[in-house]
Amino acid sequence: YIYIGGQSAVLEIPFEGEHELENAIHCLAVMLLLGINQETIRQRMASLTLVGTRLEVIEGVNGCLLVHDNYTSDFNSLAPALDFMKRRITPDCKAMVIVSDLMHDADTDLEDLYRRMAELLAIAGVSRVIGIGPELMAHKGCFGPESEFFASTEEFLHKKSTSDFRGELILIKGAPEFGFGRICELLEARQHETVLEINLDAVVSNFNAFRSRIKPTTAIACMIKASGYGAGSHELARTLQAQGASYLAVAVHDEGADLRRAGITMPILVLNPTVENFHALFADRLEPEIYSFDFLRALIREAGRYGITDYPVHIKIDSGMHRLGFLKEDLPELIELLRSQDRVVPRSIFSHLCAADDPMEDDYTQQQFDYFDECCRMLLSAFPERKILRHILNSTGITRFPDHQLDMVRLGIGLYGVKTMHDGSQDDLRPVSSLNTVIISLKNWPEGTTIGYNRRGTLKRQSVIATIPVGYADGINRHLGYGNTSVMVNGIKCPTVGSICMDACMIDVTDVADVKVGDRVEIFGENIPVDDLAEVLGTIPYEVLTSVSQRVKRVYYRE
Ligand SMILES: *Cc1c(COP(=O)(O)O)cnc(C)c1O
Repeated sequence: YIYIGGQSAVLEIPFEGEHELENAIHCLAVMLLLGINQETIRQRMASLTLVGTRLEVIEGVNGCLLVHDNYTSDFNSLAPALDFMKRRITPDCKAMVIVSDLMHDADTDLEDLYRRMAELLAIAGVSRVIGIGPELMAHKGCFGPESEFFASTEEFLHKKSTSDFRGELILIKGAPEFGFGRICELLEARQHETVLEINLDAVVSNFNAFRSRIKPTTAIACMIKASGYGAGSHELARTLQAQGASYLAVAVHDEGADLRRAGITMPILVLNPTVENFHALFADRLEPEIYSFDFLRALIREAGRYGITDYPVHIKIDSGMHRLGFLKEDLPELIELLRSQDRVVPRSIFSHLCAADDPMEDDYTQQQFDYFDECCRMLLSAFPERKILRHILNSTGITRFPDHQLDMVRLGIGLYGVKTMHDGSQDDLRPVSSLNTVIISLKNWPEGTTIGYNRRGTLKRQSVIATIPVGYADGINRHLGYGNTSVMVNGIKCPTVGSICMDACMIDVTDVADVKVGDRVEIFGENIPVDDLAEVLGTIPYEVLTSVSQRVKRVYYRE
């Protein structure tokens, strides 16, 4: 750097990210202004550390949900964290916070500070406060009678156990020196160390990337079927609801009912509504796809039984996929049936492309568009008084055929950051899910040693072999064994060795410098695209994502 044309020097800082660089430049500018000498600046800059800035949502013990803010703990950061938490409150879970003393300037009026904090918590609907730190202890009078206070994190850990927390939404927010990570460890429902991490900011960024490809007036339905393509539907639904999606779509009735239980109020479309309990469907206002006369008649009959009118439904057209839906020649009868009653009303008409990603099939895709267009005209002209939404594009369709966006699009895999086109047209997508685990054991073996079941892995050199607690019961297909894929450890790709076991597998970490037990292992994510695994398995990323088994804990975070 050169400081105001005069003094110049070279500095090293221990990171290279753009934001970190900018922060470091601010630090440098302040130190120069304060006249601190170059040697001190050099030493201090070298000892800077990265600051975590993540809000994590973690499944907790006894049905609790933890929101962990491990970034900072000043008054100004409290409101956004509470806001993030508030969006997760449901009728049957109470909100509580575990907070540390706030960071503040030396001349702050503490009584005033903690009174304002108590007010903010009350407005956010927090019924129980656990305060940790000497200042909070001294100002407990500001808080309600249900609150409890501890002088230190140690005292809290000593006096409280997991059974003190049940079915609560818990915001855990502490200044770094309080080490609230230990409270999270206590309250986390951790079974084993393999987690699927879901970056909610990447979801938002991908949503916006597709948003920018379509007109502002075109609605977006987000596909969160199959438990959000494996990422878990509740958190995604909340994020997308807040982001302004118009519809959510799930595969089956139960998925929709779950979302209602989790407090999701926006319209939900159910794609495969083989319904046993129509009453529950109506009660939760889940809007079914209609793909057959049988189902439509049953729905009309049941709506009559419960005295329901004007129930929104979505008419599926089979324009060429040949899976489900009405054909053009069915429409006159369908229209007559719909017009003959007032129990259900068409809310939308839609169809699905079967080869949107294949340029060789663009003629066929065009036929689908034309066929669908004719069907839309027939239905819409039969209901001139109604606004019926038309939609046909999926993620790849949005990228390749934006001219056919109509009134709504259905965004699926793209939301999860998986590219379906590899021509650069989707390079703005960010991976959302990463499957991570940790090394639980390390051993040195000589050349020729065999590893695992049936001695299927033979070492060709003296090797360091690590065991990781993830196996086919977690969704790691056995065909990924035998070195067919690699996982990432400390920036180095490490091949699998031998067969994948039920709950574990072995990897070759010989080339990783300083490898240790506890080191993080990425199976897919930022560095290893899901596509790589899909290719080894001869399948598509959709299947890899939805194969991560339910026993793998999902952790959600914001950057
Ligand atoms: C799954 C699905 C989508 C989303 O498809 P993507 O390729 O994941 O974008 C859209 N429409 C229907 C009917 C679907 O079943």
